[in-house]
Amino acid sequence: VHPVVAIIGRPNVGKSTLVNRIIGRREAVVEDVPGVTRDRVAYDAEWSGRPFTLVDTGGWEVDAQGIHLRVAEQAEVAIELADAVLFVVDATVGATDTDEAVVKLLRRSKKPVVLLANKVDDQRTELEAASLWSFGLGQPWPVSALHGRGTGDALDALLEVL
Ligand code: GDP
Ligand code: MG
Repeated sequence: VHPVVAIIGRPNVGKSTLVNRIIGRREAVVEDVPGVTRDRVAYDAEWSGRPFTLVDTGGWEVDAQGIHLRVAEQAEVAIELADAVLFVVDATVGATDTDEAVVKLLRRSKKPVVLLANKVDDQRTELEAASLWSFGLGQPWPVSALHGRGTGDALDALLEVL
């Protein structure tokens, strides 16, 4: 059995785009409308010859009203079943209350976490990414799931904790 890596984060931060980046195919459905997703949940993935199972929590429906609660609920389940977590934050938005709630769950779980500051498409956004040190989850890795910027380094970091 391969280790399980869960991708968690608010709707629209780029989880499915990241799945596609990692698996090298366009299987996860990327949506411009937050919370509307038809993604499969589990994908066979590998990095540097190390296989793992990638779980995209965007596979669960999220309604606009209960978004905060539902993201936290989904995160809790995903953290529970995962060997390691990729926590995705939108660096162009910064930390939200929902993100902070997920941070608490992650700290409590003591599971290894790689913090991804996504949508860092160019150097200008890197400062925003650095502000996420405040989560206390270690280094925020600036990545662009869309363009592939920084994703290799972040996946190397994942293998270190897997
Ligand atoms: P999910 O809801 O977290 O799965 O987010 P999606 O992967 O569906 O992406 C939501 C939106 O963000 C889509 O319009 C993506 O094209 C966009 N997006 C995802 N990653 C990036 C990125 O690295 N840079 C930019 N500029 N947009 C991104
Ligand atoms: Mg998605």
